Amino acid sequence: MIEFSNVSRNFLVGDQEVHALRDVNLNLGAGEYVSIMGPSGSGKSTLLNLIGLLDRPSAGVYKLDGLDVTTLGDEQQARVRREKIGFVFQFFHLVPRLTAAMNIELPLILAGVDVEERKERVAKLLESYGLSDRAEHRPEQLSGGQRQRVAIARATIMRPSVLLADEPTGNLDRATGKEVMRLLEQLTEQGVTLIVVTHDHENGDRALRQITMVDGKIVGDKSRTG
Ligand code: ADP
Ligand code: MG
Repeated sequence: MIEFSNVSRNFLVGDQEVHALRDVNLNLGAGEYVSIMGPSGSGKSTLLNLIGLLDRPSAGVYKLDGLDVTTLGDEQQARVRREKIGFVFQFFHLVPRLTAAMNIELPLILAGVDVEERKERVAKLLESYGLSDRAEHRPEQLSGGQRQRVAIARATIMRPSVLLADEPTGNLDRATGKEVMRLLEQLTEQGVTLIVVTHDHENGDRALRQITMVDGKIVGDKSRTG
């Protein structure tokens, strides 16, 4: 469902060109559980941002569900992103002034879902993530693990087929990080494609397919049955 053909991403910094991704070819199938590992600066976030349509390649073709998304305009890309993709970040990226419930509700508002259905779906997700008694808390009133659970709820409320997580446990203690990984993994049981960037090998090794990056290139790609 995710197909990269000779994708590169360069950044111009001053008069220097940074090759964040070099000629990457990649095929990910629906429902796969993939980790992306590699040293800092190796292009992991760049790759994830491209998959998530938060960024565009400098060269190459990206097909999502058979559609060449590189040719789409910004608005069409935004629509595809809203319908198909959820994103979870290391620093949660919640809206500080909004409550947990409102943060989770936001994508539904953007999608024009009516208020009754919104309230119902938000309440259901709050409950399934063990956050019902934190619905009216603002992010700063929540622990790191709770914030990440709110972020996962927000990322999944539109029922995306692809969930991208960039170092989702990077700002959490080990035990809380494990809980967050389990939550993400549960989603794969419902058929969601999960791609997790991590530099924690213990987390990375849990994925059924492990991709390793160095210097803007995929240098390792192994699968295990599990
Ligand atoms: P990782 O997530 O593996 O740590 P990144 O994908 O963030 O790596 O970055 C890969 C390379 O691209 C790094 O050298 C980084 O400095 C550079 N880079 C990433 N984003 C930008 C940007 N917006 N502008 C300039 N350089 C960037
Ligand atoms: Mg990164």
